[in-house]
Amino acid sequence: MKKYSVFIVACLLLLASCNNKPNIQYSVDKFYDLEILRYNVPGFEDLSLQQKTLVYYLSEAALQGRDILFDQNGRYNLRIRRTLEALYQSDYYQALLSEQRATGDGEAVLLEKYLKRVWFSNGIHHHYGNDKFLPEFSQEWFVDACASAGVSYDEAILPVMFDPAVMPKRTTQADGEDLVLGSAGNYYGEGVTQAEAEAWYEQHKDTTDEPLWIGLNSQLCKDSTGAIYERVYRIGGLYGAALEKVNYWLEKALSVAENDEQREAIAHMIEFNRTGDLRSFNAYCIAWVKDLQSRVDYVNGFTETYTDPLGITGTWESMVNFKDIEATRRTEIISANAQWFEDHSTTDPMYKKEEVKGVSAKVITAAMLAGDCYPATPIGINLPNANWIRKSYGSKSVTIDNLVQAYNEAAKGNGFNEEFMVDDAIRVLYEKYGAICDNLHTDLHECVGHGSGKLMPGVNKDALKEHASTIEETRADLFALYFLGDHKLVELGLMPDDKDAYHAIYYQQMMNGLMTQLVRIEPGKDIEEAHMRNRQLIAAWVYDHCEHNEMEIIEREGKHYLQINDYEGVRRIVGDMLAEIQRVTSEGDYAAAKALVETYAVKVDPELHQEMLARYAELHLAPYKGFVNPVYTPVTNRDGEITDVTIDYTEGYIEQHLRYSRDYSNLPDIN
Ligand code: ZN
Repeated sequence: MKKYSVFIVACLLLLASCNNKPNIQYSVDKFYDLEILRYNVPGFEDLSLQQKTLVYYLSEAALQGRDILFDQNGRYNLRIRRTLEALYQSDYYQALLSEQRATGDGEAVLLEKYLKRVWFSNGIHHHYGNDKFLPEFSQEWFVDACASAGVSYDEAILPVMFDPAVMPKRTTQADGEDLVLGSAGNYYGEGVTQAEAEAWYEQHKDTTDEPLWIGLNSQLCKDSTGAIYERVYRIGGLYGAALEKVNYWLEKALSVAENDEQREAIAHMIEFNRTGDLRSFNAYCIAWVKDLQSRVDYVNGFTETYTDPLGITGTWESMVNFKDIEATRRTEIISANAQWFEDHSTTDPMYKKEEVKGVSAKVITAAMLAGDCYPATPIGINLPNANWIRKSYGSKSVTIDNLVQAYNEAAKGNGFNEEFMVDDAIRVLYEKYGAICDNLHTDLHECVGHGSGKLMPGVNKDALKEHASTIEETRADLFALYFLGDHKLVELGLMPDDKDAYHAIYYQQMMNGLMTQLVRIEPGKDIEEAHMRNRQLIAAWVYDHCEHNEMEIIEREGKHYLQINDYEGVRRIVGDMLAEIQRVTSEGDYAAAKALVETYAVKVDPELHQEMLARYAELHLAPYKGFVNPVYTPVTNRDGEITDVTIDYTEGYIEQHLRYSRDYSNLPDIN
């Protein structure tokens, strides 16, 4: 499970005291609704040689999987990306581009923008909204340009790129539609229907106590007789050529692992990539959760299931990181008090865990992002996703402070709060406490929110079906929000001793959920993404339950603002909602989940939406951020032994992607 940042706005930084910050430029590029940032990796130089080498090897293993995600996101994506890159790098195109750059527009400029967007999305659909984006240049121009540049391509890509009716959505959640046929994602072979896929999963479901996650690492296909079969992601199977390279670097990582637990986990992952055997995946998850001593850690493999319309198959991702020892103290305090939070939450006692255990919590410094963590990336991760492993072995939960720091640095003084917050008082409060609250919100969400509560006996973990992600994120967010207003956090030394400090995050979350997150939605569209749905679900439900004007939307000179009149009252309603969402989860009440999501989380008020877009447009900001990675280079002696690993922050966005496409292009066009 991931926590995405939603509008982290300029504010004081909890960790702003870093004085070894290199002078890096945080904002690198801007196009469409996207901004590319650079992140700093503080502390890398202080790692031991062994740890630096491990980071380097794991980073290579991360980058080797890049093509997998492109193919998972759509079966034409690799062909499209490679055609665009070939054209982009041709002399013909480069000459045209430098000509057109002088005037600032023309098809070559538009193709560059389109290609940058394809890289950002790991395909041709918006990374967050799931809609296909169309090139601004014409098909005729593209065909002629390829001919002039001598670039050949598969003509099948033309309708996929240019026809709005072909593969319009990466993942659809539209009610009444066949979710599998309606999604362009490549988790199902051509012609497989939702009913066929569901029947296959049902038939192959593992109902033992320690179940295999059937379907996690495979594509379901239909043969000529109409029978459904699985193509497993493994060496010798689907994506084998990339997994082979991943394993090459994982083997090297194994040779410099920090301890036996880490070695065991890496060895199981290698085995899983080799065989595709889900028993190795479970063994990997268990070993990985148990490895708490290593400074360097990683995610590498088929992990999150948000993009599969049926929520079963994992998208490939990787993140290499190391522990931020100082900041980790904060989350250790929260974890150590997990039982207190569980006991004091507003949920019905019968839905509480008698014993909350194994929530490991740490703050990490990201060192390399890849696959579904790149360029757009979560700021918190909580793994593994298998409930039975979480229950028996616990889970690891991290917040990624250096990425949050990059967001904050890049957003300073961008005018957002001035435009959307109702008055100076809340702005000043947010400047003062926003960052502290935001970090704590992430910590509580990840360390205790997801791990709280239990299912009633006999309730299937998949009972909430397509609404499971939204409801789960809602539950974790509410848990965090509720306790942000609790004096306990002051007692624990986590929150400043100011009874109003939590107002900063309440205001920001409600404003975001009710109003400002709408700037990320195109006019006329519904809210689709699970995290955005959960934010609106919370804010709209709370607003709807304000019987005493606890908060209101006011109008001033034609602009709407959120005003909170009674923060304690709002907190009470947050508590009520937490109790209800926990009930829905614990009981597996699908009908209630569906009603909640459909009533509060999906639809958008068109007038308010229009206003938000107009006001936001005036600020000239990009609602989505992504990153470029640093470049690690091993320094070797005459015997070829690594004596140091250097880090460099100067590579640009285009350079980086062209290099990745050159050096890590492991899969054929058609898989
Ligand atoms: Zn979450």
